[in-house]
Amino acid sequence: MKKIQSIRGMHDILPGESRLWQFVEETAKSVFDSFGYQQIRTPVMEQSDLFLRAIGEVTDIVEKEMYSFDDRNGDSLTLRPEGTAGVVRACIEHGLLHNQIQRLWYQGAMFRHERPQKGRYRQFHQMGVEAFGMQGPDVDLEILLMTARLWQQLGLDGAELQLNTLGTVQERTIYRQQLVKYLSQHRESLDEESKRRLSSNPLRVLDSKNPEVQQVVNDAPLLMEYLGDESRFHFEQICEGLQEAGVDYTVNPRLVRGLDYYVLTVFEWVSDRLGAQGTICAGGRYDGLVEQLGGKPTPAVGFGMGLERVISLLEEDPPVNMKKGADIYFVASGDTEIKAQLIANKLRRNMTDVQIVTNCGGGSFKSQFKKADRSGARFALILGEDELQRGVVGVKSLREDRAQKEVLINDLPNYLEGLVE
Ligand code: ATP
Ligand code: MG
Repeated sequence: MKKIQSIRGMHDILPGESRLWQFVEETAKSVFDSFGYQQIRTPVMEQSDLFLRAIGEVTDIVEKEMYSFDDRNGDSLTLRPEGTAGVVRACIEHGLLHNQIQRLWYQGAMFRHERPQKGRYRQFHQMGVEAFGMQGPDVDLEILLMTARLWQQLGLDGAELQLNTLGTVQERTIYRQQLVKYLSQHRESLDEESKRRLSSNPLRVLDSKNPEVQQVVNDAPLLMEYLGDESRFHFEQICEGLQEAGVDYTVNPRLVRGLDYYVLTVFEWVSDRLGAQGTICAGGRYDGLVEQLGGKPTPAVGFGMGLERVISLLEEDPPVNMKKGADIYFVASGDTEIKAQLIANKLRRNMTDVQIVTNCGGGSFKSQFKKADRSGARFALILGEDELQRGVVGVKSLREDRAQKEVLINDLPNYLEGLVE
């Protein structure tokens, strides 16, 4: 029989990896929470039209990456390739944007039919943030500070913040004409993809990875020179805020982001330890999107981060404050197994944050202690028939050289509380 395997580019997250995933998710959740952001959950599938309208027809995602299919009613549906479109759709649908401010975050699987490679998968996972109804640079700064705080909490070093401004739609239109004029003069040095983009989405030529195209791009006119005072001021205030907060950044005038809907602020956090898939988090301001999807004009700013890339950085260098394994392993020998299970059950009620693993299924002392060691636990509790008769449990430190102690069963919660914090 042919073996059934997971779909190319879609991966299982195995027990040995899930602790790090949980650490990242829980840390992010608590950072978002500390900034007053609330979670929103939207379906993994949407009508295909949503993404066509939100992301734009001449983007990598819509042109070649979407998982779209007709369902049994003949409706065209798409597995979400990103989170923003669904969040905006939900906010409009439920009237969350009428003269209101919303600070939201989401998390979940995203789907893109790309060529799988390290850091690039067909099912991947993002956590992201969207803030609606705030126009000023203060909220742009807020989400940038939030990302910086998150790296700090995760113990993730070495990511660089790249920042740019795309100006307003009007400013960009004027700039685009100048850019097209310049690039057309150097048409012979452009590759096929850039020539195609020249007519469909010329700003994307700026982020071409082709060295020859980059040469041309180096002398291209800069969008920064076409900004009006307001756009310039918006950008400067963010830069000053970052400086004052001690968050390093680089202005990258070639950073344009793939999506049409960005205005003013765009940014990426990039690591040089992930090869070509170096962007771990990307975002910016998208004031036009809500209206584009049928809502009232609403300023908006947000980001999405790729969890696989963040996790692959942390794997090299596991965070010190991450829980490594069990706290306590309960060794039970002889006819004490059920009793041990019941004592452990009582302890869990008293010590809700402590992880207690009981040794089920018997085995010699020696083999139970081996399992205790592998569990990562700091302490073993030992209940033999002799201990049971005297109403005590042995407490042994597995990581430090400390004498084993006997503690009355009733005193265990108090005693352990002091040991395991
Ligand atoms: P790239 O230039 O790497 O294709 P992108 O601009 O398409 O990225 P976004 O749409 O901005 O990516 O998504 C935000 C983040 O999600 C990225 O910075 C990255 O960390 C992650 N991401 C995007 N696509 C994938 C993928 N196929 N596999 C894993 N992570 C991804
Ligand atoms: Mg992409």
